[in-house]
Amino acid sequence: MHSRTEHCIHLEEQYGAFNYAPLPVVLNKGRNTKVWDVEGNEYFDFLSAYSAVNQGHCHPKILEALYEQASKLCLTSRAFHNDCLGEYSEYITKYFGYDRVLPANTGVEGGETAVKLARRWGYAVKGIAPNKARVLFANQNFWGRTLAAISSSNDPTAFRGFGPYMPGFSNVPFNDLGSLESEFEKDAENIAAFMVEPIQGEAGVVVPTDGYMKKVKQLCEKYNVLLIADEVQVGIGRTGYELAVQHDDCKPDMIVLGKALSGGVLPVSAVLASDEVMLQLKPGEHGSTYGGNPLACKVATAALQVLRDENLCQNSTARGEQLRNGLNKLEGTTAIAEVRGRGLLNAIVIDEPKGHYGAAGKAYELCLKMKDNGLLAKPTHGNIIRFAPPLTITENEVDQCLDIIEKSLGEL
Ligand code: PLP
Repeated sequence: MHSRTEHCIHLEEQYGAFNYAPLPVVLNKGRNTKVWDVEGNEYFDFLSAYSAVNQGHCHPKILEALYEQASKLCLTSRAFHNDCLGEYSEYITKYFGYDRVLPANTGVEGGETAVKLARRWGYAVKGIAPNKARVLFANQNFWGRTLAAISSSNDPTAFRGFGPYMPGFSNVPFNDLGSLESEFEKDAENIAAFMVEPIQGEAGVVVPTDGYMKKVKQLCEKYNVLLIADEVQVGIGRTGYELAVQHDDCKPDMIVLGKALSGGVLPVSAVLASDEVMLQLKPGEHGSTYGGNPLACKVATAALQVLRDENLCQNSTARGEQLRNGLNKLEGTTAIAEVRGRGLLNAIVIDEPKGHYGAAGKAYELCLKMKDNGLLAKPTHGNIIRFAPPLTITENEVDQCLDIIEKSLGEL
């Protein structure tokens, strides 16, 4: 007799592509900071669907917006106008202080759109010769799985065996202004943009030196290069700011948002930019069937309202500090070798010899122990575990989670 868990996993393994290696838990319910599995076990969600569920699972106000709009009109395509897109466009552009928005669905689609916009701006405004535009990225970047995204990756697991790759892309080290400037200096006339995550999420929560983004922006201005901030994972309150770049008092030329823009309810992404950049696109040159659909507009508006109404940025800052303080006390005496993060985007680095990474490693084993003790998290890059609960988490819940983490470390 198979358990419900085994049955669900078996079906995925029998009929699905093998492009993920999930923790062996099957979830069927989520409320705020918690999720439940099909056996009825309760867990704190310390991944938040890779920071898509910042507002908490099944937030009632976001669901209300979803249900109300779903019963009226879900999709029109952009062949016709709908009565939600204009209102949403005004709301989101004023919210973040940009002239215009281009609505899309997934984060990677937002990134692709930003890169297309940058190339177009490069030709039409900067005067780059046809087909010579270059876009720079940071090493260890992650912005999705399309051919363009993996062409900018220096992680062999992401790009190996999928070539040929997109031309006109190059990488520079992250958090290294000297390397960025020397790349700009060498070929200023052909570089259209630098796209970067203000904190690198998938790379393992790599936090740059304070002021990095502001100085990057100054360099971009000096060499007439657009700065694209990939805020898909770090935006929408995750690091204690509505946008992570605000920590460095930086205003990029373009912002890419996704994930928590819908509070984890629908795939909704967006590119924000100035008139000068956005108006280079003419009708018919870019689009998406679902981009800007009425349901997404209402859900995203509600998700952004919740972020402000519930002071989630402040809570992210306070609870993040509490969490890091608690984890720091465990550093050294347990398997935790390092604690890092900002707001509620955090990671612990597990002390284990190279080569012991992956399913057999200590980090994975710790995730299994934490699961058994009621907290779900997942390793990234072998020995790094991200701790990113919904931003609604309370002081008392953070204390409970610290107890679970400490207990699980003790069981290793
Ligand atoms: N950009 C960043 C920084 C991300 O972390 C991700 C996904 O993890 C993406 C882009 C891609 O988003 P999506 O998976 O919605 O395409």
